[in-house]
Amino acid sequence: MPCISRHLNNALIDLHTHTTASDGVLSPDELIHRAHSNGVKTLAITDHDSVSGYVSVKDHLPEDFRLISGVEISTVWQRMGIHVVGLNFDATHSAMTTLLRQQSRVRYNRAEHICEKLTRKNMLIDMAEIIDIAGNNQIGRPHIAQAMVTKGYVKNTNVAFNKYLGTGKLGDVKSGWVDMLDAVDIIRQSGGIAVLAHPDHYKMTRTKLLALLDAFRCAGGHAIEVISGKQHGDITAKYAQIARDKGFYASLGSDFHRPLSYAADVGELPELPSDLPTVWTLF
Ligand code: AMP
Ligand code: MN
Ligand code: MN
Ligand code: MN
Repeated sequence: MPCISRHLNNALIDLHTHTTASDGVLSPDELIHRAHSNGVKTLAITDHDSVSGYVSVKDHLPEDFRLISGVEISTVWQRMGIHVVGLNFDATHSAMTTLLRQQSRVRYNRAEHICEKLTRKNMLIDMAEIIDIAGNNQIGRPHIAQAMVTKGYVKNTNVAFNKYLGTGKLGDVKSGWVDMLDAVDIIRQSGGIAVLAHPDHYKMTRTKLLALLDAFRCAGGHAIEVISGKQHGDITAKYAQIARDKGFYASLGSDFHRPLSYAADVGELPELPSDLPTVWTLF
C-alpha cells in the first residue's frame, strides 16, 4: 500500500506539483486545499515554465502551511530534453521572469509548429483550439492532446502521446528550450536551488546519466529527485546511492497533475532513506 511519508517534525513534504497554470487540472487554490487535507505541511507548486500559480496563492495559505516558490523548467542538454526544478527562489527576479517569458514564446511557437505538422497529417488543429483549452496558461503537449481528442482524431490523450506527441514522434519538437546549464545558473541567480527532476524518466545509459549529473553539478545544481511519484523501492535505492556518491541533496515530489488511481496523489510519497541530506534543509 502506498504510504504517506512523514519527515522532520512529522511534516509531510511534496516539492513537485502542477496546477492549471500549466498542465494540471486543479487550480492553485484547489491544489493547496487538497495538499492541506492530505496532511502536507510544505509544498512547492512547480508548474512548467510558470510561477503564476504560485504567485496567485502565496499570500492566502492555511495556517501552519508552507508554500515554497517553484518552477519546472524545460531545458536541453546534449540535444536531450531535461527538466530542472527550481525551488525557493525570488519569483520576481528579472533573470527568472525574463527566462520564463522566453520559455512561453518557445512553447507558443512549438505548439504552432506541432499544429502545422498535424494538419499536414490531416488532423486539422489550430492555435485557437489550443488556446481555448490552455487559456492564459502555459501551453503544453497535454493541451494539444486534449484538442486531438475533442476533434475525434484519437480516442484519448494517452493514444495522442503514444502515436503523435511523445518522444521520437511527430510532435516531439525540440525547439529552443533554454540550455540546462543556463537554467541552473538563472535559478541560482534568483536565489534558488536547482533540482534535477525525475532522473529515472530519461531513457539514457548509466554512463550518460552520470555525465548529465556531473554537468548539472558543475553548473551549480544541488539536488536530485530521489523520489518522483509512485516508484519502486529499488528505484529509490538506485537514486539514493547516486545522490550519496555524487554528493547531491535529496528532493522528492509527487509530480501530481490530477487525481489518478495509478499516479501519486499530492503528498503520497514513499520515505526517503534517513541518511540522505534533504534539500529542504537549504531553504
Ligand atoms: P510539454 O511540457 O509540452 O513538453 O509536455 C510534457 C507533459 O506532457 C509532461 O509534463 C506530462 O504532464 C505530459 N505527458 C508526457 N508524456 C505523456 C504521456 N505519454 N501521456 C500523457 N501525458 C504525458
Ligand atoms: Mn506536465
Ligand atoms: Mn517533468
Ligand atoms: Mn512535473
